[in-house]
Amino acid sequence: MKNYDNFINGRFVPGSGGDRITVTNPSTGQEICTVPESRPADVEEAINAAERAQNDWARRPAVERAKALRALAAKIRERIEPLARVITEEQGKVLPLARVEAAFTADYFDYMAEWARRIEGEILESDRRGETILLFRQPIGVIGGILPWNFPFFLIARKAAPALVTGNTIVIKPSEETPHNAVKFCELMAELDLPPGLINVVHGRGAAAGKALAGSPRIGMISFTGSVETGSAVMAAAAPHITKVNLELGGKAPAIVMADADMDLAVKAITASRVINSGQVCNCAERVYVQRSVAERFVERLAASMQASRYGDPLADETVDYGPLINEAGFKKVSGMVERARAAGAEVVTGGARGQGDGGYFYSPTVLVNCKQEMEIVRREVFGPVVPVVTFDDLDQAVSYANDSDYGLTSSIYTRDLNVALRACQEIRFGETYINRENFEAMQGFHAGWRKSGIGGADGKHGLYEFTQTHVVYLQRYQGQGRA
Ligand code: NAD
Repeated sequence: MKNYDNFINGRFVPGSGGDRITVTNPSTGQEICTVPESRPADVEEAINAAERAQNDWARRPAVERAKALRALAAKIRERIEPLARVITEEQGKVLPLARVEAAFTADYFDYMAEWARRIEGEILESDRRGETILLFRQPIGVIGGILPWNFPFFLIARKAAPALVTGNTIVIKPSEETPHNAVKFCELMAELDLPPGLINVVHGRGAAAGKALAGSPRIGMISFTGSVETGSAVMAAAAPHITKVNLELGGKAPAIVMADADMDLAVKAITASRVINSGQVCNCAERVYVQRSVAERFVERLAASMQASRYGDPLADETVDYGPLINEAGFKKVSGMVERARAAGAEVVTGGARGQGDGGYFYSPTVLVNCKQEMEIVRREVFGPVVPVVTFDDLDQAVSYANDSDYGLTSSIYTRDLNVALRACQEIRFGETYINRENFEAMQGFHAGWRKSGIGGADGKHGLYEFTQTHVVYLQRYQGQGRA
């Protein structure tokens, strides 16, 4: 078993304490590798490196900075298969999805590189004679990036690419569940001739390394992706220094199925949404509202489709639809929520049990009916292959159920009626709505949750500008004696 180090100032360095985190395969329980359980002093060292690199980096033309992003993209593309295997082994997603994640990460670096010539300021009309007002977009400085485990490799790019192209440097703390892919990313960085200190990676747990990063007075912004509870702790750590926070938090996406919907499409998309990454995706359908007149037919087909989903160790069988849940805590959360839903009156149509598999945290594909809006299973993020179904009478009721949530990340509706789709879009209060398709955001969009799903967002122009701060300059033409 290999013991890996942090990556600071362009070099691999051990953590300052001797403690280590052991990474395990959630399909088999087998140990994969260890990484340092870093202390606040290690985070400080990484921030020092990022700080030292930042001035020079920001002074370079953006097109030159973009070259680094393109070089990273090219390196990733050379290694899609080994990277995908590392992601699958520690995280449990199926290999085809891990390959998509690795390739998408390369595309994301390229996409953000394309912004180099498009970072724009503004020239504003002044109230004064002879004055010009200029608005510049400046880098923030050192960014802190804290990552979750569900798309761990892609999240490196989602934080680092916009940070670097806009002239920032970054310190990243990967999830303690999935640090191995981040080590592989650092190995690939080490092969490139990049200035040291641009991207520094410090492994460790949230309570020590994560808290130290979010609470450092020397970072300009903490960009965090993870749960609402941790997001709140990150905000609290950032508060004493008024550090800007960018939070991508959990979701409880409603999927509304109208009576006129293409039933095959709805069933297929919702099934895919619930089994992709074992249901551990922030944007995917977490609760389904179906119109009463078609509810029976829909549930029958959804149950059959979920039941047909195959799970297992994705490295042992490449044809499975999904793998295990991330760890025992994740498994207990999902099974506990299904048990409590049952006790509250929900009926399990299919699934609702531990899945077969040697030592893995597998959960069977599950459909629950007779769910009510007030049930925990309809209100809290499950993060597993579980679909609770609620029936509704008309669009007003569906929209009011959908909006009745602490979360506000994504939503979807299935209908053939454009007026219904348009009205739903006008009334639904979420950061994203998908019509007649699965929930999966594009890199040129803006992934940003309402309510407890986050502050700010990621991707596209708006996501890029999150990593900048404005500087307004008032330029008064000199009108002294003898001047024009
Ligand atoms: P988590 O909140 O448990 O952990 C996320 C990260 O925060 C980890 O790196 C962890 O070490 C760190 N952390 C924990 N405590 C901390 C603290 N006190 N201070 C600083 N850092 C701390 O989340 P998770 O279980 O890794 O990820 C799953 C969650 O992420 C789900 O809720 C999911 O919806 C959400 N998510 C959201 C998006 C999005 O784009 N909105 C994307 C992916 C995942």
